Amino acid sequence: MKNRDKHACPYLDAPSAECHIADLHSQNIEKAMYYCWGNYERCEIYRQRLHRDEGKTGFRGTELI
Ligand code: SF4
Repeated sequence: MKNRDKHACPYLDAPSAECHIADLHSQNIEKAMYYCWGNYERCEIYRQRLHRDEGKTGFRGTELI
């Protein structure tokens, strides 16, 4: 994992199509600033993706490769 702000979402390096940062129109910029760089654990997309990843690998943390 790259050295980064500990408050930044671990999925920023590989955002999914539904991520706020994948389509930065005006409504998503505010959400991206709030969730992706400070409150990712509150992001429903993050929670769903983490749940899927845990199901695939048994991984249970916020660190990715
Ligand atoms: S915080 Fe949510 S929207 Fe932002 S990169 Fe992470 S999973 Fe995607």
